[in-house]
Amino acid sequence: IDPSPVEGAPTPMMAQYLEIKAAYPDALLFYRMGDFYELFFEDAVEASRALGITLTKRGKHLGADIPMAGVPVVSSDDYLQKLIAGGYRVAVCEQVEDPAEAKKRGGKSVVRRDVVRLVTPGTLTEEALLDPARANHLATLARIGGPRGAMAIAFCDLSTGLFRIAPTDEDRLFADIAAVDPSELVVPDTMREDEALRPLFSRLGRALRFEPAVLFDGASASERLCRFYGVATLDGFGAFERVEMAAGAALIGYLGRTQFEARPTLMRPERVEPDRFMLIDPATRASLELTRAVGGRRQGSLLDTIDRCVSGAGSRLLASRLAFPLTATAEIARRQDAVAWMTGDNRLRRSLREALKGLPDIERALSRLALDRGGPRDLGAVAEAGERARLLAGLLDGREVPAEVGEALADLAAPPTELAAFLGATLGDELPLRRGEGGFVGSGACERLDEARRLRDESRLVLGDLQVRYIAETGVRALKIRHNNVLGYFVEVPEAQGASLQATGVFSHRQTLASAMRFTTPELADLEGRIAEAGSIALKRELELFSAMRAAVLAAADELRRMADAFGRLDVAAALAELAVSGNWTRPIVDDSLAFRVEGGRHPVVEAALKRGGGAGFVANDCDLSPPAAGRRRAAHGAIWLLTGPNMGGKSTFLRQNALIAVLAQIGAFVPAAHAHIGVVDRLFSRVGASDDLAEGRSTFMVEMVETAAILNQAGERTLVVLDEIGRGTATYDGLSIAFAAVEHLHEVNRCRALFATHFHEMTALSARLSRLSNATVRVREWEGEVVFLHEVGPGVADRSYGIQVARLAGLPPVVLDRARQVLGELEKGERTGGGTLDDLPLFSAARAAAPPVAAARPPPALEALRAVDPDAMTPRDALETLYRLKGLL
Ligand code: ADP
Repeated sequence: IDPSPVEGAPTPMMAQYLEIKAAYPDALLFYRMGDFYELFFEDAVEASRALGITLTKRGKHLGADIPMAGVPVVSSDDYLQKLIAGGYRVAVCEQVEDPAEAKKRGGKSVVRRDVVRLVTPGTLTEEALLDPARANHLATLARIGGPRGAMAIAFCDLSTGLFRIAPTDEDRLFADIAAVDPSELVVPDTMREDEALRPLFSRLGRALRFEPAVLFDGASASERLCRFYGVATLDGFGAFERVEMAAGAALIGYLGRTQFEARPTLMRPERVEPDRFMLIDPATRASLELTRAVGGRRQGSLLDTIDRCVSGAGSRLLASRLAFPLTATAEIARRQDAVAWMTGDNRLRRSLREALKGLPDIERALSRLALDRGGPRDLGAVAEAGERARLLAGLLDGREVPAEVGEALADLAAPPTELAAFLGATLGDELPLRRGEGGFVGSGACERLDEARRLRDESRLVLGDLQVRYIAETGVRALKIRHNNVLGYFVEVPEAQGASLQATGVFSHRQTLASAMRFTTPELADLEGRIAEAGSIALKRELELFSAMRAAVLAAADELRRMADAFGRLDVAAALAELAVSGNWTRPIVDDSLAFRVEGGRHPVVEAALKRGGGAGFVANDCDLSPPAAGRRRAAHGAIWLLTGPNMGGKSTFLRQNALIAVLAQIGAFVPAAHAHIGVVDRLFSRVGASDDLAEGRSTFMVEMVETAAILNQAGERTLVVLDEIGRGTATYDGLSIAFAAVEHLHEVNRCRALFATHFHEMTALSARLSRLSNATVRVREWEGEVVFLHEVGPGVADRSYGIQVARLAGLPPVVLDRARQVLGELEKGERTGGGTLDDLPLFSAARAAAPPVAAARPPPALEALRAVDPDAMTPRDALETLYRLKGLL
């Protein structure tokens, strides 16, 4: 930006900048200048802070310095990633004409520039910006007819082309959004003030984006979708409600607003049938840590523990299956068949996994190519995938395979063989990331290209000869022919010899540096012209070939997507089989009954953690919530287990593990159990452990009651409910009464299968009145006054709560523990005699004066002796003796 000639008036370039920036007030503007993207004003300040890059200034605007910061275009991906992760949106503004054109217009003309892309969290496609194991969903939410109207969610993964539309309603909206887990959710700004949606919006935080309501217009939606897909009617796509089309059209519209001319290849929208998947609300997802552990990270989640996939496509598919467990038994069985088949032959499975390992991510390569953001490596990925497909097909050739595997095999063979041949014959061995400098077409692929390259290379050799000749002619031994981007080729000699060259008349002076002088000659200029010409002919030819390859790839996009999908399915089946074999998992029976019987069940994540810790192993436990025998027949509804037992006994682990087993069974995986029979669960509620909602300023008790209300209002007979200690956050009798009534309601009204952990022993009496409720407890053993947790779940009622023992393990001071025992004794006595006796208890301070606390406060003698030891002053023999003495003191 040149200094302004007139004080206050912006330079032409600044005027252009300001005009473009005005259209993107809420994005950082990356303004292309040569090899840099520059940011100005407030954008520069923010970017320098967010990226840790230097803030400089350039020129003046309205009399003040213009802050500026820049990032090199070549490494801009890294910076983009940081900015997007930091919640920014970035408008990328490119030079859209050759600078020479602007010069031709003369005078003050600046190069034309335009925003070509708005980078937002939901519209990323670059490898560097994406997690290979995670889908990147952009979603829209549409509603027709006011606050209680029909709703739909549309979501796509721009990086893979997936596009789905799901009808939803108020009850299931949060669950559906949680399943989609969007990186960006676009909603009409008319929803901004909607009270009911506020918790959703606050959970989404920076992933939420408001757009004008016209984007969601229902009346024009179908037409807009037709236009995008170039079809006359949507009939061939399936039946969509108007609100579903509105959500879909909004999504397409938003892509237009962010991608501009670049047109993504989205697959045809697939309708998500609401009953096809198990409904899991956000609190349950969080509580079970299905795809993210507490704190939002993948590490420590169920997904992280079970993911044995060897490709990004496989990991993404597994994540998506875990987000959407199935309800149709036939579909589940199909997936199970594939896993079972893969467990049958360890050698074959290993070779399959070997062939899938490090598979290039063709889904994402394809999307980049479609958006014209792809490079030679994306073409290379397609070529390599073709080879892998043939390798896999070879491995499975002639074998009897289950339907799922057979279909995958057919899809692997879908892309035309000519495409593979064309790419194979054209691409070189070493592929650069970007196409701009060429070098990706192999030799022998094109005669014209080879010819131009030969010319270019020969001319380079001629340069060497020329240098030798110039040295001979001038006698300057230090003479060199060199090249830079400003001067092109030039002759360089040390400053002292400059004059002698100038005197020859052949060398014309170009530049004088501190220690060197630079010249050019007509011969050199001629040679340079030839090299440049040959180089640009070669480059042009390479770029033509790039376009031809890209076109060929895009022409086969549908087949390639099918192939990519097949890779993912095979990877998931093999990975789940690997998991099953290595962890001793079994194939569950999944049917339409109301059974829920797990023998020897384990919690996969806790078990894995225990294994890593190397201590005692995980204790397997049974669970049976199947309709109990009622006389000769079975009851019509599933059962409820009321689980009591001390803290740390393993209640939450048991509760969660059974919910996880249901989820695993319904994604078609094997389960960590000796045997399992699961009647399909259509809706899963789990409230175990702390809730995320505390951050929203509601009290624990309030959150718990809201969630309990949702369960009691929504659970049906196919639901599985897993509830941990409701009623904690209030006075004992309140809490007990609520827990009591809730269990009665679950049993009598919801009639669902449920696991209910409680510390209210009074509740165990319910089993006498409720026919399908039984008591279970986690066992402990007392040994020399200490509790030993056996982690065994069995029928019965916990006899004591062992709270004081657990408190002791946690390191509560002995005085407090003694006092607590005393209080407990009095309370229990009072309970027996029917009177409150705490009043009679001496005060804490008095009890303390009564002696034991002082003794208790004294450290044990061994510790005192140890404190007196000075290891540095000891001989090995002293040390050994001291050790014996210390042991004697214990
Ligand atoms: P509770 O909910 O009863 O307080 P948890 O389920 O949180 O208890 O379990 C406490 C700890 O005990 C867990 O962190 C785990 O390490 C261990 N544990 C729980 N269940 C088992 C089991 N079945 N086998 C082995 N260890 C277990």
